[in-house]
Amino acid sequence: MINVFGQHPFKGIDYKESTILKSISMVCGYCGNHVAPNRGYAVYAGNQPWLNIYMCPHCGYPIIYCVRNYESLPGELCGRGIKNLPDNISVLYDECRTNYSNKCYTSAQMIARTILMHIAVEQGADENLSFAKYVEYLDLKGYIPPNGKKWVDFIRTSGNQANHEIIIKEKEETEKVISFLSMLLLFIYELPNTEMN
Ligand SMILES: [Zn+2]
Repeated sequence: MINVFGQHPFKGIDYKESTILKSISMVCGYCGNHVAPNRGYAVYAGNQPWLNIYMCPHCGYPIIYCVRNYESLPGELCGRGIKNLPDNISVLYDECRTNYSNKCYTSAQMIARTILMHIAVEQGADENLSFAKYVEYLDLKGYIPPNGKKWVDFIRTSGNQANHEIIIKEKEETEKVISFLSMLLLFIYELPNTEMN
């Protein structure tokens, strides 16, 4: 779940004069819940239905849904919400997931890789190594589960370009990088800090 409640500009919208709309099943890109909103505003272009602005029944934030191509904005969040994250990682991870849901895949990946390098250093890796070396370090330290070798190879090779290169990232690769990061964050921060009673 993104950590924006309390100061987000969408908090407190009262949806005055909203109407009942056709219900659509979706995952809210703000709170990550499976919802079926049915209240909001229908927007027309001429007399053609164009967009619905739905109120998320869980968090109350507005989800734009394009009637033409069935796409919503923000789209689904990628990766799971992780408990017990240090504040700085939590902020960056939320930003990474928000970028993904807003289809900003290149910036989502840049943040995901920054977090991966940061946690490798935090776990004892030297500073100023290449991205591939940091992923190898996490593997050597036992943070990659058995049978995770193909993940390591994929993450390492897909992120191993020089810093000055600009490479536009696509959705599928970004999903893999965020899923990998999500798993590492789970093992490193959530599970060791979860009470067992
Ligand atoms: Zn929501």
